[in-house]
Amino acid sequence: MESISIRSSKREEMIDITSKVSELIPKDGEGICVAFSLHTTCGITVNENADPDVQSDMLGFFKKLIPQYESDFKHSEENSDAHIKTSIVGSSATVPFSDGKLLLGRWQGIYLCEFDGPRERKVVVCLART
Ligand code: ZN
Repeated sequence: MESISIRSSKREEMIDITSKVSELIPKDGEGICVAFSLHTTCGITVNENADPDVQSDMLGFFKKLIPQYESDFKHSEENSDAHIKTSIVGSSATVPFSDGKLLLGRWQGIYLCEFDGPRERKVVVCLART
């Protein structure tokens, strides 16, 4: 098991962590890679890594769906929106690997979804050979 650190630079952003995860994939053999976020206000997802508008559309849609300030929120940190977005996105991605490569589709990348940055984030990467 390994971990990677990511420093976000905005309150909300999607950071492509595919290359950092790929560095940990063994050169031979096959199996499953799980990337898991150790945080409650940032998630992990797999999505398009070709057009950056996809990431801004996703963040924009989440923002519209779940505004940061909502009179019904009681959580004193005022980041309930980030907690909700994190649960919607999920805290991990599972990707198969083979012979040193993640088996991602042509347009897929692994993203850390920051919803309450900027912060230092930690992602645990667990590799299971099959
Ligand atoms: Zn909180």
